[in-house]
Order: sequence, then C-alpha cells, then structure tokens
Amino acid sequence: MDSKKCGINEFTDCVTNETPYTNNQNKDFIVIYAVDNETHALHEEIIVSGYMDAAERIINSIYSDTNVPCAGDDHLALPILHLYSHAMELTLKSFLYVMHFHSKLCPYMKSSSIKIEKLMTHHHLGNIVQALKSILPGETNSAHYFAGSIEIFKFIDDFHKFNIDSISTRYSSDKDGAFYQLHCAQSYLKPKNLKLTIRKIINKINEYIGSDHLSACHRGELPT
Ligand SMILES: [Zn+2]
Repeated sequence: MDSKKCGINEFTDCVTNETPYTNNQNKDFIVIYAVDNETHALHEEIIVSGYMDAAERIINSIYSDTNVPCAGDDHLALPILHLYSHAMELTLKSFLYVMHFHSKLCPYMKSSSIKIEKLMTHHHLGNIVQALKSILPGETNSAHYFAGSIEIFKFIDDFHKFNIDSISTRYSSDKDGAFYQLHCAQSYLKPKNLKLTIRKIINKINEYIGSDHLSACHRGELPT
C-alpha cells in the first residue's frame, strides 16, 4: 500500500445513491430513503420509529449483561435523550399539524388561530404543547377529547423544563461558550422508566390521530 494512504474506504463505498444490488450478491446495506414508495407523512412516521427504536436498542444494550447500568454507560445518557427528544418533537408537530387543520373544518372545535409555520420551524416542545392545549377540546365528553392529555402534556412540559431538547442534548454550551442548563447541575436518567413512558406517550398520540373520530367528523358522522 502507498505509505501516504491509510486504507480507508471511499465515501461512496459507505453512502451512495447508486443501487448496491448491481452484483445481486451485495446485501450489505440499509436504505436511507426510498423515493418511490412512501408519502411524506409515512416517511415522518418511519423517522420517528427509527429514533424510538434506536433509543430503545441503546437502553436494552445497557441492560443486556446486568440489571443495572454501569458507569461505563453514562456517556449514553445524552444520545438517548436526544433520540427521544427528536422523536417527541416530530410526533407533537404532526399532532399539532393534524389538529390545527382539522379544527378549521370541525363543528366541535374552535378554529385554530395559532401560527403553525413558526411552531413547525422551532424545537421548543413547551410551545408546541401550549398550542396543542389551546386547540384541543377540554371537555371530557367531547368526541375529540384526548384521554390522558393532562398527564402526557405535564410530562412533556417537565421534560422541556428540565432543559432537555435537541440542542442541549447535542452541545454542552452555546455559541458564546455559556453552558446549557442541562449541563449545569448534577442529573440522573432512569432509562427503563423513560423508555416505557415515552413509548406510551407516542402510542397514545398515534392512537388518537389514527382513530376514527377525526375522519368520522369529516364525514359528519359524529353525534351532535
Ligand atoms: Zn372534528
């Protein structure tokens, strides 16, 4: 080997737009994005499921040899929180998007006046939760009542107030060198509890968005 080279792969041996099927043997790849078989909405779901799955696999790996994490696993706390923070952000944004546009045609909700574009381009989970609270019906007898919403929104608010977000889980300090709050006090993660809770929250939201009450409402089939 040329002594000036160190034998690393070309980038295109690692990431490529060319189909790796050419010799019909090489199955050593996974798909980043398949253009032809997914709607944008479905692609968002795949992104969320990927981030959730990655977080859960990391947590499972922490417990694969023992019942308790060891000090050698501490460096996984921020990646776990980052993956969950992003999965929650995408799920909440989809939720808000669906309900914002549903409210404009819905006889059971006040039409939303929130500034959807601004909320969609920021990472602020607290603001997204506020917006959701402002448009979801609070009456428990409403056809669109979101059961569990009080606990779920409180959890996400607390998550946000602990300064866990997509920035603080990737960087320790801002552009001026000031530490983010998350990095200013001793803090601890209980991986098993977090895993169960976030999975439950995401499932509850997806059940709500996917259940029949929204489309039944569009068809005028909800009881008045
Ligand atoms: Zn409706």
